[in-house]
Amino acid sequence: MPAVLRVALPVPLPTLFDYLPPTAGEAQAGSRVLVPFGRGKAVGVVVDTGAEATVGGARLKRVIRLLDDAPLLDAELMKTLAWAADYWLGAPGEAYANALPLALREDKPLPDTREEVWALTIAGRSALDAGSRKGGSRRLLETLAPAALSAAELHEQLPDWREAARRLSSAGLIERVERATDAPTPGTEPPALSPEQEQAVAAVAAALDRFQPFLLDGVTGSGKTEVYLALIEQVLSEGKQALLLVPEIGLAPQTVRRLRERLGVTVEVLHSNLSEGDRARAWLRARSGEAKVILGTRSAVFTPLPRAGLIVVDEEHDSAYKQQEGFRYHARDLALLRARELGIPVLLGSATPSLESLANVKAGRYRTLHLRARPGAVRPPQVQIVDMRAQRLEHGLSPTLLSTVTDTVARGEQVLVFRNRRGYAPVLLCHQCGWHAECPRCEHPLTLHAGRRQLICHHCDYHACVPESCPSCGATDLKPQGQGTERLEEALAAQFPHVPVLRIDRETTRRRDAFEHLLDRLRGEGAAILVGTQMLAKGHDLPNLTLVAIVGVDEGLHSVDFRASERLAQLVVQVAGRAGRASKPGRVLLQTHHPEHPLLRQLLAQGYGAAAKELLTERQLLQLPPYHHQVLLRADAHQREHVDTFLREAHGALAGDALQIAGPMPAPMPLRAGRHRGQLLIEAASRSALHAVLKPWQRALASLPSARRVRWSLDVDPIDL
Ligand code: ADP
Ligand code: ZN
Ligand code: ZN
Repeated sequence: MPAVLRVALPVPLPTLFDYLPPTAGEAQAGSRVLVPFGRGKAVGVVVDTGAEATVGGARLKRVIRLLDDAPLLDAELMKTLAWAADYWLGAPGEAYANALPLALREDKPLPDTREEVWALTIAGRSALDAGSRKGGSRRLLETLAPAALSAAELHEQLPDWREAARRLSSAGLIERVERATDAPTPGTEPPALSPEQEQAVAAVAAALDRFQPFLLDGVTGSGKTEVYLALIEQVLSEGKQALLLVPEIGLAPQTVRRLRERLGVTVEVLHSNLSEGDRARAWLRARSGEAKVILGTRSAVFTPLPRAGLIVVDEEHDSAYKQQEGFRYHARDLALLRARELGIPVLLGSATPSLESLANVKAGRYRTLHLRARPGAVRPPQVQIVDMRAQRLEHGLSPTLLSTVTDTVARGEQVLVFRNRRGYAPVLLCHQCGWHAECPRCEHPLTLHAGRRQLICHHCDYHACVPESCPSCGATDLKPQGQGTERLEEALAAQFPHVPVLRIDRETTRRRDAFEHLLDRLRGEGAAILVGTQMLAKGHDLPNLTLVAIVGVDEGLHSVDFRASERLAQLVVQVAGRAGRASKPGRVLLQTHHPEHPLLRQLLAQGYGAAAKELLTERQLLQLPPYHHQVLLRADAHQREHVDTFLREAHGALAGDALQIAGPMPAPMPLRAGRHRGQLLIEAASRSALHAVLKPWQRALASLPSARRVRWSLDVDPIDL
C-alpha cells in the first residue's frame, strides 16, 4: 500500500479522504491542498501524512496542488480541531471549515495582510468641500476627512457605512489604500482598581505561564471588563496575544472602543458581519502573531494564537456560544481545550455563571474569583415582586407598575420594560367560536404583528394577512390575546404621551446599526421608556436608566425544559442589572402571577449564587447535566413515519448497558415548517461510557436505509432539548 495524505474536505461526512501526495512540494499536516473531488475540485486540509491507504492504490487520486508551503493551521489548532470533531461528533471537514474563514478555503493566493483603510481621493475632498453629497454618503466623507479608517474602525463610528462606501468608491470619491504602519498610541489611564479587582487580576497574572481556568463571578457593573483590560495589558507587555470572546456582535463595537482606547493598540475583530476579505486578513494577522488583541464571537475561538497569552470568555453562560447546526461545538468548552493545549489561563466571566461552570468550580477544576461590589459604591438595584393576581391590568401592566413608571419619568429618568416576546400579541383569537390563527406548517399559534398587518410564525417565518373575520365562523370578533413588545409600546405611548417610548427588538433593529442608533439616543439625559426583548438584557450601559420592569416571566416558571429555571434566573438577574449603573440607585419590579414561586423568592432574597446552588443540587438529584451527560439524536422529514422508522432503527442499533435511552419521542415542537420532528435522548453517568458507543453508533446510523429518508443529526451536550 502506498503512503497517502489524509485530507479533511468540507463535506458533512464523518470521514477523512485519502490522496496520493502531490508531485511537487512536501505536504505537511495543516497545509491546504487542492484535490479532485467528485466531478470537480475541492480545497482540503491535510490532517495526516504518511498514513497507509485504506482503499486500493488503483482508485487513489493524486493531490492536484499543494497550496501552502508551510502549514496554515499550526499543530495546536490541528490537535484541538481533531479532538473537537471527535468529541462533538462533527464531520472533520466541517470542523476545519468552521476554523478557516471562507476566503482561505478557496484555491486563491492568501490575501495580503497589510491593513487596508478607506481614504478620500482628491475628488472625494472636492466633493466634501462642495457639499455635493448628502445623507449617508456625506457622513462617510466627513468621517474619513480627518484620517483614513479601516473597515472595523468605520463600523464603530458609522455602522451603516458599507452602502455609502460602495456608492462613493464606484464614483471614485474614496479608495482602499494600505495603512502606513503607525506606532501604537498611548492608552488611557485605567481607574484605580478596587481591592476585589486587584485580587482577581493578581490571581490570574500569577498563572499566566500555565493552564488554569478561572471563573470571574461578578455582579453586573462590578468591573469585570476592567479586570480583563488589566490582564490583557499585562499579556501585551509580555509580547503575547489575548483572545476575548463575546456572545454577540451587538456587544462588540462598544468593547472594541474600550479596548482600543485603553490599550492603545489595534484590536482585530472577527465576526460573521465582516466581509470575507477582512475576516481572512484579521485571521492571518493573528496567525502571524502581528495581531495582539483579538475580539470576536463564537467562531473566533478558532483564531490561531502562536503567541498565546490569555483567553477570556465574557458572559460565559450565554447560549450563543453553542453552535446549533452543522458542527455543534460549544465555544466556551473549546476555549478551555485550547487554553489547556496552549498552556495559558482561561478566564470565564459572568454575573450569572452557567451551572456547568459552577459544577466545575465545585469539583475543583476552576478557581472562582468574586467581584461582589459595584465600584463607586453604586448600590445593587432593589428588586420587588409585584403580585398581579386580582389586579386590574392595563394591557398586561399592573397599577403598581404604571405608577412607578409615572414617578420615574417625572424625575426625568428612564425606564426599561422587559418582555421577551416581540410582535403585538402571541395569539389572535375568535371570541365567538374559539378559533385561533395557527401556522399551517408548525401547528403553533401565529403572532400578530399589528404594524405590519401580518400574522407571522416565529418558528418558520410563515407570513399571512390578518383576516377581517373568523375563517371558521365568520364572526368579526377577532381579539389579540396576550402582549408582545409592540402592544406594550402602544399601551405605554398612550399612557405617557409626553415621554418618548422606544421599542428595541429584532423588528425595530432589523438593520444592525439601528440598534446602536437607538441606544445612542438613550445615553443622554431625559425621561424615556424603552420596551424590549432579550436584546436589551445584554451589557449596555445606560446611565439614566433607573427602573427595570420585568413582565411575562411566568411562562419560564412552567416550562418542561429542565434548563428553563436556570435561564429564567440568568435573564432576570441580567435584565435587573441594567438598572442604576451610574450614580443613581436602581429599582426592579418583577410582575408575576406566582409571587410565592420558590425560584423567584430565593433569587430575590439570596441572589443568583444561592439560587444556582439549589438548582445544581436538584440537577444532581435528578441525574441531569452537568452531572449526567446527554446526546440527542434529532430527525425530521415530511412524513411522520419516516422519522419514526429511522428513530426506531437507530434505537435498535444502539448497544451499551450504561446508557439510559428516552424515546423515540416527538420533539418539543413536533412539527416545524412542514416537517415532522422526533428525537432520541441518550444519557449516561459516565462521559467515557457514552462516547465509547457513540462513534460506532454514528457510523451505523449513516448506513441505515431509513436514514436516507430523514434529515438527522447528533448533538453532544445539547442545550435545547
Ligand atoms: P462589568 O463588565 O462587570 O459589567 P464594567 O467593567 O463594565 O463592569 O464596569 C462597570 C462600570 O464601572 C464602567 O463604567 C467602568 O468604567 C466602571 N468601573 C469599573 N471598575 C472601576 C474602578 N475600579 N473604579 C472606577 N470605575 C470603575
Ligand atoms: Zn370564529
Ligand atoms: Zn411555522
